[in-house]
Amino acid sequence: MKLTVVGCSPAWPNPGGAQSGYLVNGSGNLLLDCGPGVLARLRERDQWPRVDAIVITHFHLDHWGDLVPWVWGSMYLQGRGDAPARASLWVPPTGIEQLEEFGARLGFPDMFERVFGLHEYRPGSPFLAAGHTVVATRVPHYRLDAYALRVVGDARTVTYSGDSGPSDALADAARDADLFVCEATLLRGELDGEPRGHLALDEALAAFEASGAKRLLLTHRPSELPFDGGYEFAYDGLELEV
Ligand SMILES: [Zn+2]
Repeated sequence: MKLTVVGCSPAWPNPGGAQSGYLVNGSGNLLLDCGPGVLARLRERDQWPRVDAIVITHFHLDHWGDLVPWVWGSMYLQGRGDAPARASLWVPPTGIEQLEEFGARLGFPDMFERVFGLHEYRPGSPFLAAGHTVVATRVPHYRLDAYALRVVGDARTVTYSGDSGPSDALADAARDADLFVCEATLLRGELDGEPRGHLALDEALAAFEASGAKRLLLTHRPSELPFDGGYEFAYDGLELEV
């Protein structure tokens, strides 16, 4: 299994950066989140992304925003008789209705279903996406529904935190994983809002310790914060064999 960090910026882009997008290549091509900048990066690899499935962790814009231009590009190509393969799009519970509401404001109510095969995942229920088994676990992210994703394929396991405050559920989602991609958005935990929504570096390290995962990749970190030595931080374009 290979993981490519397509983009790893937080809620605003780091200089030259793309926002959340992580590509897992195993038995299929699986994209975890699709924030602004991700589509342009993927188009540097292929004329149009060869992605079998996309899973969205939550509906903050930095995690799904590029689904909008993905629709316009796909419809343009359809119109030219050159339609890209239809990717499955997995969203949180009630996400299909939310996509319809976004569509009504941004284009057409059915704009997303014209282009993607839409599915809602259920927390704790494994589903098959691009040949990988995925389990979504609810994690704390202010007052928004947000999920960590545990992805299993080729007898390897990758867990991606999405955006999460401190939580036993997050460590459980990464239990004994081969790779734990974990956000470390904050300088200090006490600077977070209430209820909590993100992790500081020490909290990400604590989640990693508690999980028993084998390798930690820290991500979603503003370039304004220190990237302390000794830890592995994501950067756009990083490719890891898992
Ligand atoms: Zn985010």
